[in-house]
Amino acid sequence: MSRIIEDVACTLCGCVCDDLNITTQGGRIVAAEHACPMAEPWFLKQAGNAAAVTRFEGKPATLEQAILHAADILRNSRAPLIYGLSRSSTPGQRAAVRLADQLGATIDTTASTCHAPSIVALQTVGESTSSLGEVRNRADLVVYWGANPVVSHPRHLERCVDAPGMFAPRGRADRRVVVVDVQETASSELADDYIEVAPGSDFEVIWALRAILNNTPLRREANFGGLSLEKLEWLADVLQSCRYGVFFFGLGLTNQGVAHANVESLLRLTTDLNAHTRFTARRMRVPGDVAGADSVLCWQTGFPFSVNLSRGFPRYSPGEYSANTLLEREEVDAVVLVGSEGVEKLSPQAQEQLRTLPCIALDYPQPQDAFPATACSATPCSATTLRSETTLSPTVQITTAVYGIHRAGTAYRMDEIPIPLRPVLTSTLPSDEEVLNAIGRAIRQHNP
Ligand code: SF4
Repeated sequence: MSRIIEDVACTLCGCVCDDLNITTQGGRIVAAEHACPMAEPWFLKQAGNAAAVTRFEGKPATLEQAILHAADILRNSRAPLIYGLSRSSTPGQRAAVRLADQLGATIDTTASTCHAPSIVALQTVGESTSSLGEVRNRADLVVYWGANPVVSHPRHLERCVDAPGMFAPRGRADRRVVVVDVQETASSELADDYIEVAPGSDFEVIWALRAILNNTPLRREANFGGLSLEKLEWLADVLQSCRYGVFFFGLGLTNQGVAHANVESLLRLTTDLNAHTRFTARRMRVPGDVAGADSVLCWQTGFPFSVNLSRGFPRYSPGEYSANTLLEREEVDAVVLVGSEGVEKLSPQAQEQLRTLPCIALDYPQPQDAFPATACSATPCSATTLRSETTLSPTVQITTAVYGIHRAGTAYRMDEIPIPLRPVLTSTLPSDEEVLNAIGRAIRQHNP
């Protein structure tokens, strides 16, 4: 018998759309209404009876045995690292911080390899923020800077630009959309204006805009990142003459040049614009609940990522305590991966070092796990592959339940609004929270 669950939240990207209607039948998801083309195939591959993979040194183990082996590894470690967290949810992230505190470990999230420069920049100069609801209701100017939401966040335009709002009743018709990027994209094709800047010159362009807004004379014949002064004066006029504007900036701004200086300059430009109109800036967060990982680490340790707890109190030092740097410097002797997808973003040297270390990997079942039990037993290899197996061979592997599919939880949207997650399928898989707490208890039983 089929069942329809309304207003389900999707955690595949930072939009966390919470208006999906999910139809389940026979322990599977058979329809995902309102899911974008990126999310729909993922939902349709989820199953309640996804195969549980629990292994120690490549051999099948029970969950209890795997937890005891994990506890042994961490008890004997002097410099453990807990890394990942963006595919988790608030309960799992909180359990990871608790375990890091117990171990005196370093804890780092996937933010350290993507939006870390943005976080450092906003800690330096502050940020003028808004919720996505505020943007939808009030914005008449939306600027995507170094972001291609049509590909990375497929429903972002639908929800923030096309949707009618209180002060933009005709939706898209009441808003101007500007895309600033180094090359034309699917998003720039939908924009009213496309501004092409030379690669690596965002900082120069933004500071020229600041100079114009602050009446600082600039040489008329000069060229600013491929843009003439006339073009920049036009853009400055568009920015300051709107009623409510927002910058949505992406990895295009943080992945080149002096990344945190790029973001810092955009945040300062936003502050300047608030002398003329209302303007805000928001990050286009990468897939998963990385905003939630920042938030949980902040409320538990005071810092959003790259936190070392070895002295019994939190020390924050991006770079020094970033997973990538610690691995490259060989300053880690055991690793807990709470979701192994972030491993691909580590440098080849860090990945190489990771392969030499005792490693405990907690992963969601991969889509090919989502077969009925009969199919699993017929195809044991393909049905029991974990993501971590494609990049490394963890010492301990445990499949955990998917928040928002098998378990309740909380995911933070890109505007840091917490969205509740509800289970839509029944599963016996343990959550990462339960596994991490069990590892912590097993360690305490040996070291009371
Ligand atoms: S836009 Fe993002 S959150 Fe919304 S349905 Fe698509 S993948 Fe999911």
